[in-house]
Formats: sequence, C-alpha cells, structure tokens
Amino acid sequence: MGAAGVQQGWDEEVDLLVFGAGAAGMTTALVADHEGLEVLLCEKTGAVGGITSTSGGTTWVPGTALSVEAGVPDRLEDARRFLQSVVGARGGDDAREAFLQSGPQAIEELAHISEVKFFAATAHPDYVNGPGSAWGGRALVPVPFDARVLGKDFARVRPPRKEFMGLGGMMVARSDLNALLTPFASVANFRRTIAVVGRYALDRLRFARGTQLVMGNALAARLYYSLRKRNVEVRFDTPLVELVREGERVTGAVVATPGGARRRIGARRGAVLATGGITRHPALRNQLFPAGARELSLAPQTHTGDGVDRARQVGARVEDGGDSPGLWMPCSILRAPGGDASADSVWPHIILDRAKPGLIAVNRRGERFVNESNSYHDFVMGMLRDARGGNESGPNVPAHLIVDAAFIREYGLGLLMPGRSAARIARFERLGYLVKGSTLAELAAKLQVNAAGLARTVEAYNRAAADGKDPAFHRGSSPMSRFNGDARQQPNPCLRPIGAGPYYAVTVWPADLACSAGLSGTANGEVTDSAGRVIEGLFACGNDLASIFRGTYPGPGTTLGPAIVFGWRIAKHVTQRGTQAARSVPPGVKVCA
Ligand SMILES: Cc1cc2nc3c(=O)[nH]c(=O)nc-3n(C[C@H](O)[C@H](O)[C@H](O)COP(=O)(O)OP(=O)(O)OC[C@H]3O[C@@H](n4cnc5c(N)ncnc54)[C@H](O)[C@@H]3O)c2cc1C
Repeated sequence: MGAAGVQQGWDEEVDLLVFGAGAAGMTTALVADHEGLEVLLCEKTGAVGGITSTSGGTTWVPGTALSVEAGVPDRLEDARRFLQSVVGARGGDDAREAFLQSGPQAIEELAHISEVKFFAATAHPDYVNGPGSAWGGRALVPVPFDARVLGKDFARVRPPRKEFMGLGGMMVARSDLNALLTPFASVANFRRTIAVVGRYALDRLRFARGTQLVMGNALAARLYYSLRKRNVEVRFDTPLVELVREGERVTGAVVATPGGARRRIGARRGAVLATGGITRHPALRNQLFPAGARELSLAPQTHTGDGVDRARQVGARVEDGGDSPGLWMPCSILRAPGGDASADSVWPHIILDRAKPGLIAVNRRGERFVNESNSYHDFVMGMLRDARGGNESGPNVPAHLIVDAAFIREYGLGLLMPGRSAARIARFERLGYLVKGSTLAELAAKLQVNAAGLARTVEAYNRAAADGKDPAFHRGSSPMSRFNGDARQQPNPCLRPIGAGPYYAVTVWPADLACSAGLSGTANGEVTDSAGRVIEGLFACGNDLASIFRGTYPGPGTTLGPAIVFGWRIAKHVTQRGTQAARSVPPGVKVCA
C-alpha cells in the first residue's frame, strides 16, 4: 500500500480513498481499481451493504442494451422527455444528462469487468405517468446470487430486513412468492416450495442464513464478491473521522481503526464520500425533514450522516433536496414485546397491498387524502401535504389502511400475508398490529378517527367504485397502479367497493428509504462549496450526493441508478484527470497532487 510515497505525515497513501461500502462506494472502488488506481475502501461497520443490502435492489437506468435483450428496447430520448416532464424546471439538467449518457455504458462495463449483473424487467412501469414514461426495460433487477462462493466472508454481507426473510433467514425471489404462499395450489407450486425450502435447510447447516440472495442483497454481495476477486481492500470498522483540507484541496482523511486509534491516510487523486446520506444525522434530520417524517427511518442506526457532516466542515454546501428532503415509504409497525423499539418489525407497504381493489387510506378525520395506488413516495408526499409546517405533523400522519375481510384473505395486509387462516389474523390482532371492527363505527372508535367522516368516505368511495371510478383521487389511472392492482378486477384493477364487515386496518407512518437532500456537486460528483466552486479532491455519490431528481421519484430504482452511475463517473473522471495531469508534466517529474 503506497508506503514509498508517504509524505506530509500520512500513515499511508493511496490514489483514491473511498468511504462507505454500499452500492455507490463499492461501484466507485471497483471501477477505479479496473482503471488501475490504487484504491482503499473504508467501511464504518463490520459488513458491506448499508441500505443497499436491505433494498429491493431495482436500479433505474434508461436506454441499456439489457432493455433490448429483454425485448423491451428503451430509448434515451424517451427517458429524457420523461425526466423533463417529471423533474423539469427543478433544475440539475447537466447532472441528469450526464446520468442518461453514462448509464448504459456503466451497466455494460460493470457486467464486463465484474460479477455485477442485472437483467431488465419486461414489466416494471415508471412511477409517474407522463410523456416518455416506460412500461418496462428501465428497471434493472440484480441477477440472484449464490453466496456460497463467498465462503466465510458471506458473514460480511449485511443481511436484508428481517421482515423480508422467511423461516428466520430465507430470501424469496418475487417469482417464487406465489408458490410459497400457496404450496398446495398446484403440483408445480408444491415442487417449487420443496426445492426452495430444501435448499435453505441445507444452507443452514453451514451458514447463518440462506445463501440464495435476491434484490439489494444480491447486488451488495455481487459488488463485494467482485471487489474480493480483484483484491481491492475493504477495511472494516474503519470510519471516516475527519477530512484533511490543505488550501483548495482535500488531500486525505483521518480514520478510526478497529482498535480505536487514529490513522491519517493520504488520497493522491481524491476522497469519495458514499456513507449513505443524512437520514440519521442527529441535527440535519430535524432541521430538514418535515415534522411528520422524523420518527421513523429505514436506514441502519449507524447511518449518522458522517460523510455530509465532515464535508461541511471543509466548506461543502448541503442542498435541501428540492421537492422533498427525503424519499419515503409508508410503514406499519409490529411493536416488539417489552418496548424495545429496535426489535420492532417495520413493514414498508411497497407494492403488495395499497393498489389492490378494496383498500382505502384515511386520516384522523376519516377522510381519504391521496391516491392510495400511487408510488410509496407519492403516497407519503400526500400524507405530509396538509401539515402547516413547523412541528405540526398534519391530519394524515399517521394514516390508516382500511379493508374488509375478503381483502385480507385474498391479498393480506402489510405483515399479514394472504390466506384464510383465522388464527393468523387473530394473532396479528392480539399483537396490536391489526385493528378489527365488526362495524365501521367500531373500527373508527378503535383507531380514534372520526366515525361520521369514515362512514361518509366509505359510502362515497363505494358508490363510485362500483362503476370502477374514483373521481376524488383517480385510483387506477396510471399504468403503474393498474400493474400493482389485480387484473382480474374489471373495469378498474384498483377499485372495488368495500364489502360487509368485519373490517380491518393497519396504521402507517412515513419512513425514509433514502434522502434527496445531500451534498451539492457537479455532474462528475465533485463536491462544491457555498459559492458553487469545486472543492478539489472531494467527491460524493449515492445518498451523500443530493438527488438529481430533486425530491421526485420518477421510477423504480431511482436512487440506486444514480448511485451506481455517479460512482462509475467519479472513477472515470478521476482517472482521466490523472492521465491529463501526467501528460502535462515533463518526463521525469513526479506528480504528487
Ligand atoms: C426497504 C427499502 C427498499 C429499497 N428499494 C430500493 C430499490 O429497489 N431501488 C432503489 O433505487 N432504491 C431502493 N432503496 C433505497 C436504496 O437502498 C438506497 O438509496 C441506496 O442503497 C443507497 O446507497 P448508498 O451506497 O448511498 O448507501 P448505503 O448502501 O447505505 O451504503 C453506505 C455505507 O456507508 C457506511 N458508512 C456510514 N458512515 C461511514 C463512515 N463514517 N465511514 C465509512 N463508512 C461509513 C455505511 O455503514 C454503509 O455501509 C430502498 C430502501 C429501502 C429501505
């Protein structure tokens, strides 16, 4: 590790010093190593993966060759039109264009140089309906990964959320979900269930959890496996403590070692911040997030905004995130016995229930307030909309998802998967997760929502839903919502009247899945100061960099897409700059900065 070039009191020196082993940081390190740079990746915790490991892993990158391969070719000019209509006047055109231009190449090159492989989903519609929006081809899905090849290092991959695993440690691919939920529905379902569960049982003889990884966990493991294959060092339990700025340039950083000592590491070409964003920063969260969205975060507890914080100390500017500082999911909570909040089960209502026919969301007045079949982010934007600011949460926080008994059996609700078992339903009721009322009035009283308001709401909803209409909020009006609805329900896959009691509800709160606010930067991920000047030698990507979509959420995977593409761009930019600098120096002269 560069001991020969050590100068200025550094304990060691590398070309590129990367902080944070999530999708953004691992991509940067991987591509920089491929470009021939000497790279060190420092990770705060004992595992790679960060939020990436716990995510859906869907990665939104328009115009890739994968879309052509999948038979749903996507064109950059359509994506450009689409982003213009969704993000448009909010600014950031250069960075958006850079993302579009580099995306296809970044994905192709990763597949070529590493084990980071995706396929394009043929049907995974954009979240906003507008000119140029796509039905399929843009959302890239990580190819499932067999983690047995990692051997004992599999323990270094942060596990997914416990709510996303069955039998205490088994990930289930979306394509297997139906078979596992209804194993006795057909011979094929039964066989598939035996295969999946059998494999899991074998895994548990050797590993702490199942090794068949999907979604974000497959992505994180693929990135880590690729780094290992290239011998790129990931230094665990080594957080960034402080950036070193000398004049106009960041020249290195101070890290803490696992033993608690401090170590000064020089970064000849630059330092890259990819520490997962500000969502749990003790001050910025309260300062930037609206009151109704401060309680719950889906980020690991260790995501304390270190990268953004340290960058501010050397003069970097923080952007507020445009339309919204956070990107959100509505979540219900199964409280752990004994009041230990860290043991609670938090369920993000992503796609399984909100768009299904026969569900409404109401606020404390018993009124609907949003199109429930919108994307998770837009649903929560609806929850936050009526707050008057300050420390006021507004009437829609928390909100309640209300359904009838037939809905519960057919589609499930939150943590409660579909099925006829009355005992399972009663168990979730006993645990306080599910609220039951034999009449709407009884349900309203238990939820502490206005009973007359709820009765009026259900009556109006039912009258229009019988004809497949929703004049108030237009459920089922977009391709994405119809896709997540139930195609058997016609004329509108998202609408049917709420039937006879008993009625059930779960309560949902806003939680951040990522942040939109972050460091201000250029299209090459260079961090800028309050005057808009580049701070030489300092880069950011992933959630540490302000979102190029400015608080909107255009489609599935619109945080991981830019995380990977800007990680790739930073590595390329740093390499190119170095090459140019070397060319401009007469032979024999050593380049130090
Ligand atoms: C349930 C859920 C589902 C989601 N699904 C999707 C999806 O399908 N598609 C999508 O695009 N987005 C999704 N997201 C959001 C997405 O996961 C994140 O936006 C993305 O993973 C962020 O990547 P990152 O590399 O910036 O951060 P992370 O993956 O969080 O990595 C940051 C790393 O930095 C480390 N770190 C922190 N501080 C320091 C320090 N001081 N020094 C060194 N290291 C440090 C952390 O420990 C962590 O390992 C989802 C989120 C959730 C919660």
